Amino acid sequence: MGSTQIIRDIASYGEQDEPMHRWSMVVDGETVSELWVAIETGEIMQVETADGHGRQGYASALYRQAATEITIYHAPTGHRTPEGDAFALAVGGDALPCTYGCCSSEPDFDDED
Ligand SMILES: [Zn+2]
Repeated sequence: MGSTQIIRDIASYGEQDEPMHRWSMVVDGETVSELWVAIETGEIMQVETADGHGRQGYASALYRQAATEITIYHAPTGHRTPEGDAFALAVGGDALPCTYGCCSSEPDFDDED
């Protein structure tokens, strides 16, 4: 029988990074998925699932657990990776608007290429 647990702590993604909230899915002692959330804004900064553990719903479960504990938001649409965008669409929930001025408020379909 396997054991599955969600662990919440605060950690730095990289040595140079500010500490963030982290929810980890641990199955039989192995961390299989992590959800990283900025402390100040509640913005989801990283969602990762270990190779071979995808498509099990782990990341979605972490999202649902985190959302019961604090208010979390998806990154602004224009800031997401394709994977992040697919994740946001899959789990639903609110997203932050872009407050950095790098995304126009109106969708811009003109491709300058
Ligand atoms: Zn932006």
